[in-house]
Amino acid sequence: MSEIKDIVVIGGGIVGCSVLYALARKGCCNSILIEKNELTSGSTWHAAGNVTHFGHYAEITKLYADSLNLYREAEQVTQTDIGFHNTGSLRLANNKREWDAYLNLEQFYQDIGVPYRVVGPDEIKELNPLVDIEGVLGAAYTPGDGHVDPTLTTNALAAAAKNLGAEIIRHQPVTSIEQSNGEGWVVSFDGDEVLAKEVVLATSFWTRELTASLGLDLPLYAFEHHEVITEDIDELKTLNREVPAVRDSRAPSNVRQERFSLLCGVYETKPKLWATDGIPKDFGQELLVPDLERLEDHLLKVIERMPAFGGYGIKTVNNGPLCFPPDGCPMVGPIETHKGLWLAAGFPVGIGTGGGSAQFLAEWMIEGKPPYDLEMIYPNRFNKGISQKQVFEQMKETYSSGYKVTE
Ligand SMILES: Cc1cc2nc3c(=O)[nH]c(=O)nc-3n(C[C@H](O)[C@H](O)[C@H](O)COP(=O)(O)OP(=O)(O)OC[C@H]3O[C@@H](n4cnc5c(N)ncnc54)[C@H](O)[C@@H]3O)c2cc1C
Repeated sequence: MSEIKDIVVIGGGIVGCSVLYALARKGCCNSILIEKNELTSGSTWHAAGNVTHFGHYAEITKLYADSLNLYREAEQVTQTDIGFHNTGSLRLANNKREWDAYLNLEQFYQDIGVPYRVVGPDEIKELNPLVDIEGVLGAAYTPGDGHVDPTLTTNALAAAAKNLGAEIIRHQPVTSIEQSNGEGWVVSFDGDEVLAKEVVLATSFWTRELTASLGLDLPLYAFEHHEVITEDIDELKTLNREVPAVRDSRAPSNVRQERFSLLCGVYETKPKLWATDGIPKDFGQELLVPDLERLEDHLLKVIERMPAFGGYGIKTVNNGPLCFPPDGCPMVGPIETHKGLWLAAGFPVGIGTGGGSAQFLAEWMIEGKPPYDLEMIYPNRFNKGISQKQVFEQMKETYSSGYKVTE
């Protein structure tokens, strides 16, 4: 028999669980999340968990700040540790353009109440003795940054939502979503169905295929994305604290401490698209085959900046699929052509921005309008006629530009 719900959220990664909790804490508890596998099983489980307040675009800083606040709230209400390490982070200025851009942002950060300051090379060295400051003009320092454990965080969000009455079912792949004759949607899975007034798709790189039968052609594909973890580093063992994460535009990468190792996420110059002909049918909680050779030039530049990185062996190389819209911003909001259908998909930094985006979406769904204008994340921002070739070109350009300062 069909169950009737106000909202069905499809997908139980950090984004779907954030949406479920964000809705519930605003009083919308007659909702259900359906996950085809285990919670976190897409990209979330293997993410590095970095959370920063300095993203690619200043406009979405509030999404970052709200994300960490939501995760910490879920931690508090469920009394479940989310593994937050408050290390702070440094965004290096390698040239005058970056330096000026970082200085120009000081007033912006002050206005929105997020701790931020621009520091010189000596202070970089004090904060993170592993950085070679040769040629570095300074850095933007965001002391509130760090990393969370993505699995613990997702589970805390799920538990917090359930405590408020929301429901979660796992191991049920949604097979179709159809508009019902009257109002609302029929969501089908494993011979059963749920009727809902509204549906949120938090299905990352699966979203494109899930919505194809509705006549939609969403520009949502994935890249292979690598992270590399070193053996334990003596310099880190002797320090009595964790060093701030470092983001560097020279070899677009982020490097943070992972226990006594360094963990480096790499934005390749020639990124490789993944599964463009369709997501493998049984793809679940898996990693892809790593290709360290492709990262070699890149890692040499990382070693120049952090010599300790090169002084020790590499312990782990993870290669995972990363959903990546052409402009690198997530797709959050209504699909205007299909009343009651909402997107929370396409998150390249879904740990950093998932919680804040979920709150943005929940408010929009409940209040009937977004809490503030943020057109750069609305699903309708892409031209209808954009070709697959254009999508791939734009994706590659955005991804490979890594941490370059945007105009
Ligand atoms: C190597 C690597 C490192 C990363 N490091 C970071 C980082 O440090 N910080 C950061 O912010 N981001 C990082 N990311 C990106 C981050 O992992 C993603 O942005 C984030 O996990 C996306 O979350 P999501 O909930 O949108 O997607 P997912 O975690 O992929 O969740 C989508 C869920 O939908 C489910 N699903 C799909 N189809 C169906 C269906 N038909 N029915 C039911 N369920 C369905 C899937 O099983 C899955 O659980 C990293 C990514 C990679 C690859």
